[in-house]
Amino acid sequence: MVRTRRQEAELASDLLKKNKSGLVATPIAVTRTRSTGGSSGGSKNKGQDGDASTSLLEEAFQFSDLNQTTEEIDELDDDILESIGEESATIVKGVNAIIIKAVKLQASDIHIEPYEDHVRIRYRIDGVLVTEKKLPKDVITSIVSRIKIMCELNISEKRLPQDGRFRIKMGNRKIDFRVSTLRTLHGEKVVMRILDQSAVSLELPTLGFEEDALGIINKVIQDPYGIILVTGPTGSGKSTTLYSILVELNKEDVNISTTEDPVEYELPGINQVQCKSDIGLTFSTTLRSFLRQDPDVIMVGEIRDGETAEISIKAALTGHLVLSTLHTNDAPSTVHRLLNMGIEPFLISASLSMIIAQRLVRKNCPHCIAEDETAHNKLLSMNQDDRGYDETKFKRSKGCSKCNNTGYKGRSVLYEIMVLDEEMRAFIAKGSTSIELEKMACDKGMVRLRELGMKKALAGITSLEEVMKVTIS
Ligand SMILES: [Zn+2]
Repeated sequence: MVRTRRQEAELASDLLKKNKSGLVATPIAVTRTRSTGGSSGGSKNKGQDGDASTSLLEEAFQFSDLNQTTEEIDELDDDILESIGEESATIVKGVNAIIIKAVKLQASDIHIEPYEDHVRIRYRIDGVLVTEKKLPKDVITSIVSRIKIMCELNISEKRLPQDGRFRIKMGNRKIDFRVSTLRTLHGEKVVMRILDQSAVSLELPTLGFEEDALGIINKVIQDPYGIILVTGPTGSGKSTTLYSILVELNKEDVNISTTEDPVEYELPGINQVQCKSDIGLTFSTTLRSFLRQDPDVIMVGEIRDGETAEISIKAALTGHLVLSTLHTNDAPSTVHRLLNMGIEPFLISASLSMIIAQRLVRKNCPHCIAEDETAHNKLLSMNQDDRGYDETKFKRSKGCSKCNNTGYKGRSVLYEIMVLDEEMRAFIAKGSTSIELEKMACDKGMVRLRELGMKKALAGITSLEEVMKVTIS
């Protein structure tokens, strides 16, 4: 369907009128919360890129999508709409449609990627990228400009990367978006990280921690001092676990301070500090200040260097409970990583109280779950075929409309928890290797990531592929 600019404008004002007259289910309002990078000058957009492409965009989005979105929009930001001209209202709605659908599908990221002859929109859902739409190449500039306006970025700067944020309200939910732009070969690519606090449960059992693990964690976090580390690669849910522990510890008589980069979720009653390395506000400088702020519990977003490790450990040794994350593959090798950062073995053994190594696996969709008929071959390739498993118990969902045909819905955590007792501390102090430490921990009952993965696969919670993907034997 091709519309003239006049028709576009009429359509836009019609839609706006409808919105004002209470046809509205869920209000969405855009607030710009921060902008960085580039000057703020020249932010007047006349929508010059929007004219030709709006009908293309409209077509690409198909009207059903656009209308659906329109019903959900209470107040389009009038300033923005005016500044880009009514003829570009379709772009505004198109971008809103992309955003709203991502939120509904509980995506964690939106990728808008220009290629030679099209623009690809992908969502990351449960850790996996899924193509949502392909749009004509012409719309990329308008879409990027619209998103830049939403987070007050410089729309005339198209060559340098920029970072920004904006917040939308859907109903009574506030959803934050962290936006990053980067010029690629065929135009600017935009990635939006969705920080939807209401979509995330900050309760350990809901994340997938089982009864026995909860018992261990809840006992260790009651210690008044020591350091607790959550480890794993990016996207393994480390910060969600830490946040959940903080929620557990958050009582009126406890002073909790966090230094984060970035602050992902706001937690009432907790003093959260956003790091800004460009002004020298790093994990280590914030940590030093925390120690003069009468803290009980301190959370450091990540231990990236020896300096942060050292201050964290000293804080733990002087009567504070310190929580942090590290990028290591499993619990025993975490000790080795700290040694490599230049920390003395006796400091590690004296301060470290618990390491949780973790991964996320996607959960089988309950609506299309079925027996995994290829379980036997998968067990073979995992060298797990001689364990006497009842192979009929493994499940693999077939894919349905409820799971976007992926066969998966939601995620569950796999973890191995190493709690240090006196014997292990002595072992670390005298400089044991990771392998020796691992053996000792397993002898004392530590369940490895893969073992727990097999247990969850046998219970039909996840599939063998997922376990294979994130754990090693
Ligand atoms: Zn399904």
